[in-house]
Amino acid sequence: MEDCLFCKIISGEIPSKKIYEDELTYVFEDIAPTAPIHYLVIPKQHISKLDEITPENSAVIAHIYEVIAKLAKDLDLKDGFRVVSNCGEQAGQSVFHIHFHLLAGRPLAWPAG
Ligand code: 5GP
Ligand code: ZN
Repeated sequence: MEDCLFCKIISGEIPSKKIYEDELTYVFEDIAPTAPIHYLVIPKQHISKLDEITPENSAVIAHIYEVIAKLAKDLDLKDGFRVVSNCGEQAGQSVFHIHFHLLAGRPLAWPAG
């Protein structure tokens, strides 16, 4: 999609630090990490946000969680990790290409933090 920051990252037009890639997903380091591990897991297909998930496009979201489980094993995140997807401006979404923050490496307060 034109003028989408994360679509440009997927195409390589904007550089990123790649962690993992397959035919459906791309994983890269967040530019402003809030934890020792702060990766963004995104579908290559442009979906703007969580409330645009439908029966037609939800398979990629299931795949994203398989990728997260694989990364958690590969990175040995046995102490725990958090997955966050902000939906809409009030929730703090700033990039409107759906993404899942993968956070780990420090104690994570709840709620928020
Ligand atoms: P949101 O606020 O939408 O939940 O998360 C967007 C995330 O994208 C933020 O954590 C922000 O640091 C990250 N981000 C914004 N622009 C870039 C960029 O150009 N490159 C990378 N790697 N991350 C970005
Ligand atoms: Zn996009």
